[in-house]
Amino acid sequence: MIVSFLSGGTGTPKLLRGYSSICPEFNVIVNVAEDVWVSGNKVCPDIDSVIYAIADIIDDKKWWGIKNDSFVTHRRLKMLGFDEKMMIGDLDRATHIIRSELLRKGYSLTDATREIKNMFGVKAEVLPVCNEEISTYIKTCDGWLHFQEFWVCSKGEPEVLDVEFRGIEKAKLTNDVKFAIKNSDAVVIGPSNPITSITPIIEIENMRMLLKSKFVLAISPIIGNKPVSGPAGKLMRAFGLEVSANGVANYYSDFLDLIIVHSGDTCEFEHIETNILMKCKEDEVRLAKFLINTLREYIG
Ligand code: GDP
Repeated sequence: MIVSFLSGGTGTPKLLRGYSSICPEFNVIVNVAEDVWVSGNKVCPDIDSVIYAIADIIDDKKWWGIKNDSFVTHRRLKMLGFDEKMMIGDLDRATHIIRSELLRKGYSLTDATREIKNMFGVKAEVLPVCNEEISTYIKTCDGWLHFQEFWVCSKGEPEVLDVEFRGIEKAKLTNDVKFAIKNSDAVVIGPSNPITSITPIIEIENMRMLLKSKFVLAISPIIGNKPVSGPAGKLMRAFGLEVSANGVANYYSDFLDLIIVHSGDTCEFEHIETNILMKCKEDEVRLAKFLINTLREYIG
């Protein structure tokens, strides 16, 4: 069974760490709309978290960066009067340097990502959804902020009035992404933020049409009426969506076949219930097994 996951940088990577311990070969199509150049290097937060999670080196207290990393360079830059806006670990920075050097040599983001995931021994295909740059901007009462300014500098506190994915109209799905979807038995939308992680994947070109031709299963990132972490609730409300598994299913309804919701949560769409909270590796493996059994039941 070939599965393609759509992923952001926290909820779905948790599931992928569990899934890859059972089945190491799959595709992950990753959001690039939170990517940003920092101190001369290209940081792809979602791609890095996916690779680090599958390689089992992610810092799973924060769910970004590499475990036991140091911040010597970041602190040194600050001491010299250079205020780096994102906390970047020393080991993590090595990934960003390699990526940026490959890009400067003319590699596409897809090819640079393949080189990097191979360096980390990752068997799964990790595919940026496109090679073009897309930037998420959040409209607040103080004007438009880049997503990283909103989330890292303003700690996600300002009220969200609108969201824009700048550059999305010019972005193209890569051939690798189209091939992966066409050759998949199922597409799984992992428990990622429907607005900032999944929208910039499903709104590119004819992705929605591609998804309509496939068996699509989603796992809710919302339990009850709250996200497990992050600003998904605030962002869903700004999009006029109900903050619930039902709101998530509604948002994906034109291509969704089935949603996995938390035990006891209600949903008007075709759904199955189980414990979808992943607090540790055992939870991730348990949910991955449940997903595999569900897919076998539905698609054989
Ligand atoms: P981001 O790029 O860091 O925003 O990461 P994602 O979009 O991949 O993940 C953020 C979403 O993951 C949030 O909406 C969370 O509610 C969801 N999430 C985090 N941990 C869990 C979990 O254990 N279970 C479920 N179901 N969702 C989770």
